[in-house]
Amino acid sequence: MINTAYIALGSNIEPRADYLNRALSEINQHEHVQMKQVSSIYETEPVGYTEQSEFLNMVISVNTSLRPEELLLFLQKVEQHLHRVREIRNGPRTIDLDILLFNDENIELEQLCIPHPRMQDRAFVLAPMQEIAPFVQIPTLNTSIRQLYTALPERLRKGVLLWKQQGQEEEFGLFES
Ligand code: AMP
Repeated sequence: MINTAYIALGSNIEPRADYLNRALSEINQHEHVQMKQVSSIYETEPVGYTEQSEFLNMVISVNTSLRPEELLLFLQKVEQHLHRVREIRNGPRTIDLDILLFNDENIELEQLCIPHPRMQDRAFVLAPMQEIAPFVQIPTLNTSIRQLYTALPERLRKGVLLWKQQGQEEEFGLFES
């Protein structure tokens, strides 16, 4: 069965755009994962632990025959390849890869929660996601991505600025740094 998943990418250690690019190309090289849509890149203020540099964030959709747990393991391997070190919770990272949605499934495992439990509060997730999937519904909330984005407080939306528009002419997800 072909599943559709949405994945959020973020980086706040230079070279940030290179880390995003490298993650995209590793994801696209997996024989059971096919990238379908790629959002623009947004520059965003850190949330939670605020004493750190600004992030670049984006969202992609993929088709995959992997199960959610297999997709998570694969994305964690990509994080490891890109030298992700977990030191401070919500602290600086070369790359962060989160599964936002997997079909319309609700998954509550110890190591995996889908829909991602904080996605509806995060402008840095909803801004790029509404670009590629405005009408997709979050199964647990029965609300579309665009409705959630529009309902965010302006202060949160203002913290997310378009950094690199995704152009039609570009190869899937490969951006200049
Ligand atoms: P983070 O440090 O933000 O990358 O969080 C990683 C941890 O979140 C890992 O231990 C994952 O097992 C767990 N996790 C739970 N749900 C998800 C999800 N939907 N996508 C990615 N990681 C998740």
